[in-house]
Amino acid sequence: MQVTTTPVLRDIVLIGGGHSHVGVLYMFAMKPLPGVRLTVICTDTDTPYSGMLPGYIAGHYGFDDVHIDLRRLAEFAGARYYRDEVVGVDRAARKVLCRHRPPVAYDALSINIGSTPRLDDVAGASEHAVPVKPIRRFNERWLALLDRVCRHAGATTIAVVGAGAGGVELLLAMQYRLRNELTALGRNPDELRCHLFSAEAQILPTHNAAVRSAFEGVLAERGVVVHRAAEVTEVAAGRLRTRTGEVLDADEIVWVTQAGGAAWLRQTGLALDDKGFIRVRDTLQSETDPLIFAAGDCAAMIDHTLEKAGVFAVRMGRPLAENLRRTIMRQPLIDYRPQRHWLALISTGDRHAIASRGAFYARGDLVWRWKDWIDQRFMRKFSEFAAMSAVVSANEAIPLDDSEQTQAISAIAMRCGGCGAKVGATVLSRALADVRPIERDDVLIGLHAPDDAAVVRVPPGQAVVHTVDFFRAFIDDPWLFGRIAANHALGDIFAMGGEAQSATAIATIPPGLESKVEDTVFQMMSGAVSVLNEAGCALVGGHTGEGKELALGFAINGLIEERLATVMRKGGMCPGDVLILTKPIGTGTLFAAHSRLKARGRWIDAALDSMQVSNRAAVPCLIAHGATACTDLTGFGLLGHLVEMTRPSGVDAELELDRLPVLAGAAETAAAGILSSLQPANVRLRRALRNQDEAVRHPNYPLLFDPQTAGGLLASVPAETAESCIAALCGLGYRSTARIGRVLPQGEVLEPIRLVV
Ligand SMILES: Cc1cc2nc3c(=O)[nH]c(=O)nc-3n(C[C@H](O)[C@H](O)[C@H](O)COP(=O)(O)OP(=O)(O)OC[C@H]3O[C@@H](n4cnc5c(N)ncnc54)[C@H](O)[C@@H]3O)c2cc1C
Repeated sequence: MQVTTTPVLRDIVLIGGGHSHVGVLYMFAMKPLPGVRLTVICTDTDTPYSGMLPGYIAGHYGFDDVHIDLRRLAEFAGARYYRDEVVGVDRAARKVLCRHRPPVAYDALSINIGSTPRLDDVAGASEHAVPVKPIRRFNERWLALLDRVCRHAGATTIAVVGAGAGGVELLLAMQYRLRNELTALGRNPDELRCHLFSAEAQILPTHNAAVRSAFEGVLAERGVVVHRAAEVTEVAAGRLRTRTGEVLDADEIVWVTQAGGAAWLRQTGLALDDKGFIRVRDTLQSETDPLIFAAGDCAAMIDHTLEKAGVFAVRMGRPLAENLRRTIMRQPLIDYRPQRHWLALISTGDRHAIASRGAFYARGDLVWRWKDWIDQRFMRKFSEFAAMSAVVSANEAIPLDDSEQTQAISAIAMRCGGCGAKVGATVLSRALADVRPIERDDVLIGLHAPDDAAVVRVPPGQAVVHTVDFFRAFIDDPWLFGRIAANHALGDIFAMGGEAQSATAIATIPPGLESKVEDTVFQMMSGAVSVLNEAGCALVGGHTGEGKELALGFAINGLIEERLATVMRKGGMCPGDVLILTKPIGTGTLFAAHSRLKARGRWIDAALDSMQVSNRAAVPCLIAHGATACTDLTGFGLLGHLVEMTRPSGVDAELELDRLPVLAGAAETAAAGILSSLQPANVRLRRALRNQDEAVRHPNYPLLFDPQTAGGLLASVPAETAESCIAALCGLGYRSTARIGRVLPQGEVLEPIRLVV
């Protein structure tokens, strides 16, 4: 996460990680505008590059060759990345509405979400056909089909509906790959039958006659049955029917026809064309709202008719970035001038391609190599960041209104300490107005009737469990950070076998414009409260001060039976017990790698998902299976916390390195020597290891010292119940739960832990 000293003055929000927005991110990385914060919201961290998709299907490229890692690109650009689905825009409030998180505020907005297949127009298509978009879902279906064809003996029929460049290219790529797979299995490749359906009398209607005839030849040579003037009007399970009454039984029906705009765009009030695409001026600004831009397939230029092709989406990136910048700077916008003819390099699956531009036509293996060179060069731009250095223009001062001017000066001036460093009461009360902590009967005075302090009742027969935790934001996403900080703090209560009752928050927020500070507090606290509420824990108070970095912590009170019957201590381990860990480890190395652009975005996604998993349900399950001791994994890492358990228990322990559940990518980043800044302090505990020399080369060895944020539970369970306990924990959603070792009687040697390699 990059920490900037300039206060945030304006927010540009990008919806979708399409071909134009990856260009915008790249351009802002090259030339940042101080005071402007970019946020990209996208459903897919791995965003596909359409030009190479057929090559991936044909088997010439791997998954990562044809996808741009949006989280990593955003990190490089100093932008926020939110993985979510946008479901609307509240233009009056200037907020983007997301499916899973609170609304995201913008000063300027851009939409680049591609197109949506129009399956609803044809009976049965939504249920029984496979649309090519979104490509993530198509890819899942494609991998399943590959598997099915290889396993299933006998003929397979594939029908592609739509004979534009996308449909033809995709069909040839699928056929090439599947025939190769069948041949490799020693089966007859002719078991595969391919059909192409065109609503028009000819295929590739927007290309010249020479290109069309070349593809007619390729399709005939490959035995593809082409159905012309055959509009598909009905789809059922394994069957399609055309307007002329022709019926075909097919194992897979792939839909690559003309698409429309996403349904949610209709509720935005933006002017749309008859297919539901956003009408934009030459500046790429919406016809309706000058603060909203659109680019790529989801935009319909008012004064130009463009084919829906990635090449235009890519070209729009530069003028779009420039106009977003100019909108913030209140400068005149520039026009995007689309080219009249554009070059399409359409592959035939077998490392051969056909070039089409206006009346121009060429074909050959050399054309494929040319396409491959162009595509690889494009992708390198978004994956190889090392040698680049950003140019920041010192002269660009964002125009502000008078009141904003004062706030901005104050945000960078010397700030007061003591009580003067509190976030202002108005900002705070506005930010918290929409945050709704749960109310509990045992909270007598809390946030619903704020006072100097909260008052809570301890029910008879119960005792209070206290804990406190606090840390700096490790990710530039206040909502997610709030959720993880709350989950992390609750972990100690659950690990003791307690139920969370009430929480007070302590936070620091970087100074800035009031509206931006307010939004940060709102995002962070609504994330935190969503988790506290789920845990039944009432937020009863807190303190928010200014600080250089965003940070959040909680003092949490929990309740537990007074006679301590359900208390889970660290010191109850018995020889013979099995050691169980409920979540994978590796968050420390992964986030260290993320900030150095060395982690894949999907590894970070998975780590963030894991950090949000609550330990709450795991504890009763462990207790029911007779757990003898338990702790939650946090900063000291697995080894540190294990030693904290063996010492008071008076036992030794054995850890099996091969069995450790590890987050995707963590072994790679640790092997690359990328470790958390806390790791060296944790490594000092290696003196607790009996046979360190034998284990030091094991890929999981460094992860023993990796500090965890919101880690899982480490518990000792009697051997007789261990297997059923693991099965029950997996059933509760702790899918990575593993038996990682066992408890031994205390031996003669000083070092308590033995590693099994
Ligand atoms: C098989 C095939 C091959 C093709 N080959 C070529 C080719 O060689 N050359 C060419 O120029 N064109 C090609 N095309 C056309 C090309 O795919 C599209 O024109 C291009 O992808 C459009 O780019 P875009 O940036 O508008 O949107 P997209 O590339 O579709 O990107 C949209 C992004 O927005 C995200 N998104 C969508 N909805 C939401 C939401 N609600 N909230 C958040 N995020 C969202 C998606 O996850 C995605 O990351 C091909 C098409 C197909 C089907």
